[in-house]
Amino acid sequence: MRVYSFPQGGIRFADPTAPPQEASVVAFLPVLSVIPMVQHVGSQAIPLASVGTVVKEGMLVGRGQGPGSAHVHATVPGQVVRMVSWEMVPGITNEALVIRLGGSFEQLGKPEERLPWESLEPGAIQQRIIEWGIVEMEGAGRPLADWFASFHEQPSTLVVRCVFDDPWLAADYVLCRERTEAVVEGSIILSRACGASRVVYAVSVQEKDLGTLLLAAAKTYALPASVVLVGSRYPQRNHRELELALREYETREKLDLGSLGIQGPATVAAVRDAVVLGRPILDRYVAVGGSAVKKPQVMKVRIGTRIGDLFAECGGFTGEPQRIILGSPLSGRRVLENNLDEPVIKTSYALSALLEKQIGGTVMRSCVGCGECRAVCPVGLDPEALFKGITFRRGKAPEQDNRVRACHGCGCCDVVCPSRFSLSTTILTAAIGEH
Ligand code: SF4
Ligand code: SF4
Repeated sequence: MRVYSFPQGGIRFADPTAPPQEASVVAFLPVLSVIPMVQHVGSQAIPLASVGTVVKEGMLVGRGQGPGSAHVHATVPGQVVRMVSWEMVPGITNEALVIRLGGSFEQLGKPEERLPWESLEPGAIQQRIIEWGIVEMEGAGRPLADWFASFHEQPSTLVVRCVFDDPWLAADYVLCRERTEAVVEGSIILSRACGASRVVYAVSVQEKDLGTLLLAAAKTYALPASVVLVGSRYPQRNHRELELALREYETREKLDLGSLGIQGPATVAAVRDAVVLGRPILDRYVAVGGSAVKKPQVMKVRIGTRIGDLFAECGGFTGEPQRIILGSPLSGRRVLENNLDEPVIKTSYALSALLEKQIGGTVMRSCVGCGECRAVCPVGLDPEALFKGITFRRGKAPEQDNRVRACHGCGCCDVVCPSRFSLSTTILTAAIGEH
């Protein structure tokens, strides 16, 4: 079977400190849960609970307001005992409810009761998805309400990207294995909601058998479904690189995929739970590891669990972590001051604690002109030239504007740079400054 990929650049990324892709371990329920009002790209949700409020599992506790914002729900029953705030990224403060566990669960341990969705109109399905605060469960956490609104034309094909080009996607991998039917049902529901007339599962070639499982589950539904095998060179999973691979497939197979709507497996499984079970995102799979962690593993974790609790469940630290990252070390967000009270949120697919030796030492002073950054850039940019233009000219370099904007921040250039320049951050920051 043919394998489709993007034409240039990229890297093979291996990391022995990422957790093995084995069955998930269910994390303990946290005695204290921290439920932030920002778990999405946009402005903070308005808190609907305060100290003393008794909450139920799945209860609305934060109302999304405007673009980029989404509803926030309690993930455990209990009582709000504190409101806290902390600096999540420099200059951005987040507020959270702290809930002490207590009372009975509405969902946990109960048999699943299905709500019929098959006869619902797309708008009614979208309403359920929005009501339960579903966001893209990676990256910035774009609310699906915004995703629906983003299409200039209705997507013809929904693409579920089961692409594992980064070992820190172990959580998605385990989810696909453990919840194959939920991923497929979610993809059928989301296709209906966004108007797509077919679904394509883009699957990394080394997981060909997963493609077979997905296709077998999809046969239960009338919607046309197919599997496209794609390469596993990073960043195959990026929207741009995935679309390039799929357009090549489309040409070779003489198909018309039309416009594409692309979502990850965790998001479509969350859509299924919202629409079929009437529940918000209560938990998620998280890949916990890194050189500072004694026992890396994939865990099923309640949203709001503090990351310190997760590290403790992984046997604690082998040494003092120099850096803690939510998301992949390649593209994730550094946890400021290694704050172990930060909670897992809807987008936390990975969590790593790194020893100094894994970070790789300090910054070197000069570019050695090796050209590695150019060789790996999938967009065909010259990161060295862009970096120097931005850093040393300290001003706008108009002739570089378009190239700066073309950078999608994959970080390949950073990984290979022997001088350890922050190439992608510098270029992306310049791109943002131009808007
Ligand atoms: S971060 Fe930007 S410049 Fe660097 S490799 Fe990726 S696309 Fe190219
Ligand atoms: S990889 Fe780093 S050292 Fe090599 S050319 Fe690019 S910026 Fe210079």
